[in-house]
Amino acid sequence: MSKSDYYEILGVAREASDDEIKKAYRQMAFKYHPDRNPDDPDAEAKFKDAAEAYEILRDPQKRARYDRFGHEGMNGSGFDGFHSADDIFGAFGDIFGEFFGFGQQGGRRGGPRPQAGSDLRYDLTVTLKEAATGKEVELNIPKNVSCTECDGTGAKPGSSPETCRHCGGAGQVQQSQGFFRIAITCPICNGRGTVITDPCPNCKGNGVTRETRNLSVRIPAGVDNGNRLRLRGEGEPGQFGGPAGDLYVVIHVEEDKTFRRQGQNLILTTEISFVQAILGDKIEVPTLDGTETMDIPKGTQSGEVFSLRGYGMPHPGLSHSGDLLVEVIVKTPRGVSKKQEELLREFEALEEEKTSKKVKKFFKKAKEKVMGN
Ligand SMILES: [Zn+2]
Ligand SMILES: [Zn+2]
Repeated sequence: MSKSDYYEILGVAREASDDEIKKAYRQMAFKYHPDRNPDDPDAEAKFKDAAEAYEILRDPQKRARYDRFGHEGMNGSGFDGFHSADDIFGAFGDIFGEFFGFGQQGGRRGGPRPQAGSDLRYDLTVTLKEAATGKEVELNIPKNVSCTECDGTGAKPGSSPETCRHCGGAGQVQQSQGFFRIAITCPICNGRGTVITDPCPNCKGNGVTRETRNLSVRIPAGVDNGNRLRLRGEGEPGQFGGPAGDLYVVIHVEEDKTFRRQGQNLILTTEISFVQAILGDKIEVPTLDGTETMDIPKGTQSGEVFSLRGYGMPHPGLSHSGDLLVEVIVKTPRGVSKKQEELLREFEALEEEKTSKKVKKFFKKAKEKVMGN
C-alpha cells in the first residue's frame, strides 16, 4: 500500500510552522467532516488521512522522524492509523471543541454526535489449494442490524422519540465543580438527546436487532496466513447517523501434507533411488493441480534442490507465480540380495581402479612437470 505524503495531504510546505499545520488541518477536517458529507464516501477517508497526517506532524519528535525516514520511520511508533471518526474525536477533542462547538459550552448542535459502528473480525480457514486458486466463500456473520421496523430509532412505528427534558435535547448537562463548569453526558438519555416513551416491539427500543448476515466474499488467489480482507461498511451499524464499521476477514491457511510454503514458493521433498541419482532419470512430482515431469541429472546428490519455475503460489494481483522447489533425497537400500552385493563389490572394485588410475595419471603429470622444468 503506498501512502500519500503527510505534507501533501494537508497541502502545506515541508517547512510549514506548527500554526500553519494546525490551520491547514482544521480546514481539511471542517471540509471533510463526515457529518457535513453524509453522501460522499470519500470524505471520511480524506478526513481520516488528514487526521493521521496531523497526528504525526503536530508532534515535533514524530515529525522529525517522519522527515528523516518517511512512512517507514513511523512503523513501530505504535500508531496504526485511526479506525473511525470517533478515534479522531478522542484524539483531537480540543480542536473540534473549538471548531464545532462540541462540549465546551454545552452548546452542541441538536442531537448526539454520530458514532461509527465497530469493526468486526471473521476468521476464515482455507486449504493451501484454495489459497492458491482463490475461492468464493459464503460467510454467515452474526451482527447487529439497524431495526427495519423503526428504522433504527428504537421508537414504536408511528410514535417518535421525545426530546429529553433533563438536557433539553443537548445530550449533555452542565455540572459545577468548584470554579469550573463542565459538561457531562446526560444520564437520562445517555447522550441521545431524546427519550423513547413507546419502544419499538421488534428491537425493544434498542434500534438494532441481532441477525445472521450472509455475505459472499471472493478470496483472491495467493493469500497467505494473516492476510486481512477489508469489507467496507460490513461491520456493526453506526449510531446517530455515523458510518457502519468494517468487516475484516482474517485468513488462516491450513498446513498441507505435501507442500511447505515459503512466501510464494512451495517446497516439496521427494525420494529417489541411488541408481536414479547416479544415472539420472525423469520423475513425476506432484504440483498444486496435478503432476509434472522433472529431470534428475546424472550424479545428483542427496539434498539437492531443483526448481520448477512458476509452479508455486500465485502473487496476489499479479500474473506470475512463485516456484516449486523440489528437494531430492537419495534413498539408501536397507538390505540387498547376494547377487546385488556381488555387483556392488564389483562396482566398488571398479571405482577403486578408476581412482587409482586417476591418481597415477596425476603423479605422472606432476613428474613430467617437474622434469620439464
Ligand atoms: Zn438528556
Ligand atoms: Zn425497532
